[in-house]
Formats: sequence, C-alpha cells, structure tokens
Amino acid sequence: MWRYQELLPVLSDSNIISLGEGFTPILPLTRLAVSLGFGHLLMKDESFNPTGSFKARGLSAAVSKAKELDVREACMPTAGNAGAALAAYGAAAGIFPHIYMPDDTPRVNIVECQVYGADVHLVRGNISDAAKAMNAERAGTSWFDMSTLKEPYRLEGKKTLGFEIVEQFGWGLPDVIVYPTGGGTGLIGMWKAFDELQQLGWIGDQRPKMVSVQAKGCAPIVKAFESGLTVSEFWNDAATIASGLRVPKAFADSLILKAIYDSGGCALAVDDEEIVRAIRLVASTEGILLSPEGASTIAALPLLRDHGVVQSESRVLLFNTGSGLKYSEVLLLAAVRPTSM
Ligand SMILES: *Cc1c(COP(=O)(O)O)cnc(C)c1O
Repeated sequence: MWRYQELLPVLSDSNIISLGEGFTPILPLTRLAVSLGFGHLLMKDESFNPTGSFKARGLSAAVSKAKELDVREACMPTAGNAGAALAAYGAAAGIFPHIYMPDDTPRVNIVECQVYGADVHLVRGNISDAAKAMNAERAGTSWFDMSTLKEPYRLEGKKTLGFEIVEQFGWGLPDVIVYPTGGGTGLIGMWKAFDELQQLGWIGDQRPKMVSVQAKGCAPIVKAFESGLTVSEFWNDAATIASGLRVPKAFADSLILKAIYDSGGCALAVDDEEIVRAIRLVASTEGILLSPEGASTIAALPLLRDHGVVQSESRVLLFNTGSGLKYSEVLLLAAVRPTSM
C-alpha cells in the first residue's frame, strides 16, 4: 500500500507502520460467472491483508499518522475488524488502543484484540451503543478518536483500494464496483482516489457505477436510496450475521449516497440466508472462503441485473472485504446449508 506514499498523509518514512497490507489480488470468478450468466465477474480479495480484513489499510495509515503526531493512546468503537486492525497496528507503533465492541461481536474479533494486548470493552447493543460507552469514558482523556470518518487518515488508507484497482486494470476501471457497505469508508475512499488520479492526468472522467450492498436487517443506505434521499435515518434493531454491515447510521452517509447517485449506481439489500448460501456457493465453485460481508455482494448479483446496472459484457468488480476464517459462527451455519442460489 505504501507504494502510493506520495499520495498519503505520512511525511516521514520512519513513522510508517506496515505489516504487509495492500496490493491484494483481483481473482476472476470464471466458473461462477458462467453458472450465473455474467460476462466478467472479478473479485478483489482483501482477505489477504494483515488481521484478515481491509480495515488494515485504514489503520496502517491512521496509526502511522498518529505516530507522526505523537499520539500515545487511541480509541475506537468497532463492529470487530477495525478494532482488530487498530489493536495490531497500535501494538506495532507503541500506541495503546482502547476498543469498544458489541458483546455479540464474532468471537475471533474479540479474542484477537485481547491477544494484541488492547484494552477491550464489551458493550451490550450495537456499534452505536459501543460509541456511546466510549465517549462517556473518553471525556477528559487524551485518547485520539479513531472512529470511522471522525479523523481523516483511515479514509486516506482506504483510498489506496482505488489506486490499486486502476493500476490492476492497466490504468482503466471496471464498469461496476459492488461494495458491502457499513460505515462506507472504502466506497468514499475509492471515489476520492478516482478524482485524485484524474487530477493527476492518469485516468479520464469515466467512473464505474458504484453499488452499495447491505443486509436486510440493517439497510439504512438502501432505504435512503429507494426514497431518493441524500442522508439516511437511524436503523432500529439492526441485526445481521454480516457484522461489518451492522452500522445503523453511517456518520458519512451523505458522502456514500452522493457517490452512488453521481456514479449512476444503486443500493441493494440481501438477507442473511442468501449470504450464507453465497458463502457456500463461492467456496464450492471457486475455492474462495468469503466473509459474510463479501458474500453479500455475490448474493446481490441477481438484483443487479434486475436493476439494469449490469449488461452482459460489463466488467463487474466485487469485494471480499475480509477472511471467512474470522467468522467461525457463520462457517458452522454455511457447513449445513444447500448450495443453490
Ligand atoms: C468494516 C467492514 C465492512 C464495511 O466497510 P465500510 O468501509 O465501513 O463500509 C465490510 N466488510 C468487512 C469484513 C468489514 O470489516
């Protein structure tokens, strides 16, 4: 990821905390494309990142910049993977992390944070409740708040997704990008990256259609999109096995919706049952073990066609944002479900 250092906010090489994040492969889903009747399905597989998710990009940038700014302690509410990445990069930087997560976060996320030596708080409820608990305890401390999009640097790390896609497409772009959306950092980051590359003269003004996928049990962006709104409403009783998508109200919802509208994309919701089936389908046809968030993009494929976002020859880039191995609870479900979609 740090191959793009000139476009990232860290000034001195000595402050860069890298664990090998970025430059993940784009894998063709050839067998799946044939069986579902798509021309070109590709998957950017972010499970190769340190801590097993693309949160590593954002936290590598943010923790490096925090080191440069002489931060000693940081805090964050998390649905799981962001906390794990903060815990790992914080350990490597000597910055002590305070992590607040729902008490029903996937077990692996909880214990990995503990093993990295972080201060872990389990909170009843969802990520919004975890944020409330954090803010109450943060008052009067010098903890640096690393909440999604409340500091500028995680987004800068996530924008490297956009640089990589352009580089991996031979200085071009796919026609459609399908992104599992929680807080939306990756989608907003890619959109920013494309603008920066255009300003540099490396791409033109063509953009992919940006598609947000959410879970039916927590779909505030989809609801806003369907009503033509530019901001979302808080989603009550958010529930889904795709824990990274359980964000009842994204802080930067207006930026997510703007990218969707400006690109001519759309927002779609799929249910947990469909997600589990998609995990099983991709594992058994392509040999890739998706996170439930990544699997939501596969489950959304039939809907994409119904919405007319994809034509038969469209190059569709999906995201597997994390490793299926982190979700032992979901894997147990997937192991007993039938394959068909
Ligand atoms: C955080 C997370 C998401 C959602 O990403 P945002 O950029 O917050 O929208 C998706 N998948 C996984 C595995 C995650 O950890």
